Amino acid sequence: MNHRKPLVAGNWKMNKTVAEARDLVASMSSPLRAITGVEKVLCPPFTSLSTFAMLLAGTDIGLGAQNMHWEEKGAFTGELAPNMVKEFCSYIIIGHSERRAYFGETDEHVNRKLHAAQKADLTPIVCVGETLDQYESGLTSEVVRRQINASLAGMDSVFAPRIVVAYEPVWAIGTGKASSGENANAVVKQMIRSALTELFNEKIAQSIRVLYGGSVTASNAAEFFSQPEIDGALVGGASLKADEFVAITKSAAR
Ligand code: PEP
Repeated sequence: MNHRKPLVAGNWKMNKTVAEARDLVASMSSPLRAITGVEKVLCPPFTSLSTFAMLLAGTDIGLGAQNMHWEEKGAFTGELAPNMVKEFCSYIIIGHSERRAYFGETDEHVNRKLHAAQKADLTPIVCVGETLDQYESGLTSEVVRRQINASLAGMDSVFAPRIVVAYEPVWAIGTGKASSGENANAVVKQMIRSALTELFNEKIAQSIRVLYGGSVTASNAAEFFSQPEIDGALVGGASLKADEFVAITKSAAR
């Protein structure tokens, strides 16, 4: 068994008003707190962050934002700066495939955000993964390696172990068609961890947590968490259902 602490993060995406988010967190926070041996993170929309920072204060449930800009301040209408995220959060999701697909986010943007996360002392959850076309054309390795190399370029080896990578095949996100545990494990081992080894070194690559994301549910979670290379999950749809998210988190605990 490896020494990496499992992590389960719920990405609520653009769902829940503050009142609805309060209700949802009320129904999951005490069962989540009862689970040990896994790092737990909730990523609600920006509007709920300040409320959640108060509700979760003093608990072991971490708070994350779903996006941020890399600049410290300025004329970037609609964006949030890293230190604004840091006022409430300890985690930041960077480069989610929906940001890449709908908002033109590139590996270069992801790289800038990652450097900004280090500067703001935020734990980044960096998303990588191939599209269906790329998967069907046998390009998974090329795409995932390119995303890792370009996204993590220039990161120093002191901060590197704090980076969390989420392998999220785009064809599995929100589709109900999860990857198999075996396939995800092979991608993490042969493509992600080997790219991390080339970028840093074996020891650092072994210390970086790599999550799987893409249609994780309470019924398939154990298949992923039993894989030696998979250190938890980034959960979308199922994180909006208290009992599902609690069950997923429980099955990741070690
Ligand atoms: C995600 O949004 O990162 C995700 C994995 O979504 P889902 O679990 O709904 O596939």
